[in-house]
Amino acid sequence: MSPRKKKSVSKNSRIDNEREITPSKVEDEIEEHGDGIYVVRKITGSSSNKPYRCPGCDQVIPMATPHTVAWLEHDAETRRHWHSICWSKRNQRKPKVERTRNAPRY
Ligand SMILES: [Zn+2]
Repeated sequence: MSPRKKKSVSKNSRIDNEREITPSKVEDEIEEHGDGIYVVRKITGSSSNKPYRCPGCDQVIPMATPHTVAWLEHDAETRRHWHSICWSKRNQRKPKVERTRNAPRY
């Protein structure tokens, strides 16, 4: 029997995360909508590392898909991930769209 204790801290600790340094060039845009001022950020596929549900079409945005994030300027809680096309459609229409009750679910 050996009384030696194993060291719990290994020298090979993970440094994989260093690859994920946020690009310095993040360009937020400000858009004025009927319900407020939105901050809009374009997400590149490489910085999208999990799927999101788009509130515009209620479909999933697969990970690694370029898309758009938008939130009310004064309220980060409203932050949502949109398909870029859905966001631009929202932009064109006035927010009077009625919700369809029997939209398909996935
Ligand atoms: Zn969508």
